[in-house]
Amino acid sequence: MGGTFDPVHYGHLRAADEAHAAFGLSEVIFVPTGQPPHKAGEMVSSAEDRYMMTVLATVDCPYFSVSRLEIDKTGKSYTIDTLKQLKSMPEYFDTEFYFITGLDAVLDIVSWKNPEEIMSLCKFVAVSRHGYTRSKMDELPEDLRSAIIPLEIPLLAISSTGLRERVRKERSIRFLVPPSVEHFIRKNSLYKDI
Ligand code: ATP
Ligand code: MG
Repeated sequence: MGGTFDPVHYGHLRAADEAHAAFGLSEVIFVPTGQPPHKAGEMVSSAEDRYMMTVLATVDCPYFSVSRLEIDKTGKSYTIDTLKQLKSMPEYFDTEFYFITGLDAVLDIVSWKNPEEIMSLCKFVAVSRHGYTRSKMDELPEDLRSAIIPLEIPLLAISSTGLRERVRKERSIRFLVPPSVEHFIRKNSLYKDI
């Protein structure tokens, strides 16, 4: 599961857990993006802070892990390159990959690098997300749309954008992110002056 995770929240964690259960996955790897190609120019917390929060949020779940693949890369990160890199690792020889996204992200897929190739290398899952209806997928080209596996999950209307806004306005983010992530944000004064 790729993402900016700025910050990681219960929407991400629930989506990952739902996919884990629905497809009988052995592991969910969270891959915080380095320099997100879609967010150029926008304010993004440091890769290390986003990595740290993702580790804190996932540490007590035995089948969740976090990869440094993208954050250790200089320059832009593309899903296709990360996927190929993961698939070439000896521990993932013979592993079937599922790429987990929300319905909002999947609608952008036409703008990604080599979407058809991504689809050919993994199963592509689109979990439901508050504010997006599945019929939006009809706008995607047929070859991409037919390869996407939709997964209905309980909707949690949580977004990192909303959380950053809450912190900036000094509103509570309790019960929207794990306590450790909330403490990390406060301790490091993240999202104060965006
Ligand atoms: P931002 O508001 O900064 O874009 P975000 O909350 O969308 O943040 P991302 O890091 O952009 O979080 O998302 C990573 C992945 O998790 C994307 O595929 C996104 O669709 C999915 N996702 C994020 N929040 C939810 C949620 N509440 N429910 C389901 N999927 C989600
Ligand atoms: Mg997003």
